[in-house]
Amino acid sequence: MPGEVENVIIVGSGPAGYTAALYTSRANLRPLVIEGFFWGGLLQQTTDVENYPGFPEGIMGPEMMEKFRDQAERFGTRFITDQATKVELAREPGGIHKVWVGDDEHQARTVILAMGAEHKKLGVPGEEELGGSGVSYCATCDAAFFKDKPTIIVGGGDSAMEEAIFLSKFASDVKVIHRRSEFRASKIMLERARDIDNIEFVTPYVVEAFEAGGGPFQRIARLRNTETGEQRDLEIGGAFIAIGHEPQSQIVGGQVRTDDEGYVVTEGRSTQTGVPGVFAAGDLVDHTYRQAVTAAGSGCEAALDAEWYLRDTPQVPTPEGMPEGDLAEAQWAPTSR
Ligand code: NAP
Repeated sequence: MPGEVENVIIVGSGPAGYTAALYTSRANLRPLVIEGFFWGGLLQQTTDVENYPGFPEGIMGPEMMEKFRDQAERFGTRFITDQATKVELAREPGGIHKVWVGDDEHQARTVILAMGAEHKKLGVPGEEELGGSGVSYCATCDAAFFKDKPTIIVGGGDSAMEEAIFLSKFASDVKVIHRRSEFRASKIMLERARDIDNIEFVTPYVVEAFEAGGGPFQRIARLRNTETGEQRDLEIGGAFIAIGHEPQSQIVGGQVRTDDEGYVVTEGRSTQTGVPGVFAAGDLVDHTYRQAVTAAGSGCEAALDAEWYLRDTPQVPTPEGMPEGDLAEAQWAPTSR
């Protein structure tokens, strides 16, 4: 609540943010989650999740995120379904951090950053102009618009395979355009895509531009062979880009350490960012594993790091007139080191 110093503010939702909320709420820290408009992160755009332990039949990504959220809410997590717009991190141990949602200022003794990652753009001419009108980053969201239309998927990882498999149920055909002839995708995903009749692989090609065609579902993808230089145009109904993700660290840019790609850097085997009381988890820090289960695990670690920090670090007094969160009532015992 504005005007109160929170114990924990979690910025971002998804498996990392909601797991951090579950653990800190079970420790009676009454976390506040600023979860964004489209809460649940990238799993909201995923279909079957078959590799999260505990769901032997698989579970749909959005349903899974709803369960994560419900579980955190059950123990007292509060949510703001809006974007954090500005962050001002205190530098001294025990200092009070500030997070804004529009004009509302929220203060907290610890902040867990879990803003995740967003779809990477190709950065070619026409991509932005045709965004939402022939160029998409989410087959799960938009495939139904391309019923019986020729389509392409750009990329060669698991996301590209997953998108191609889903899209093949709607589109007349799906061409997977990949810049190399080897694929980064796992064998099982690649084989599943290869087994589908209306999926074709076009390699080694890059898309150099998108252009509008003669009608609403007529687009042109300009391709170039990366080995021979040969150029060719494909007439398509729509294109789906699945070339990886970009960490959403902009809001803390210059305040916490990030690597060349913008991933937040944490210290050793911990979730500490180097700014006292500020922790980071999930896809925001992870360019290696990027799984729902690893994000959830790091959300748990961030919650424990925040809990231990609050227990062990002398805190600066609450500014006059500002109510303190329920720190005195927090129960450390279940998760203490
Ligand atoms: P990724 O593994 O990083 O693959 C990105 C793909 O896009 C690569 O093939 C890359 O080509 C290509 N690419 C990158 N930038 C490009 C550009 N500018 N132009 C053309 N192509 C470009 O990303 P991801 O597929 O999103 O997967 C991320 C993680 O999530 C992985 O760990 C993956 O296993 C996991 N995931 C798992 C599942 C599942 O198991 N169901 C589903 C989705 C994702 P190069 O190979 O040439 O670099």
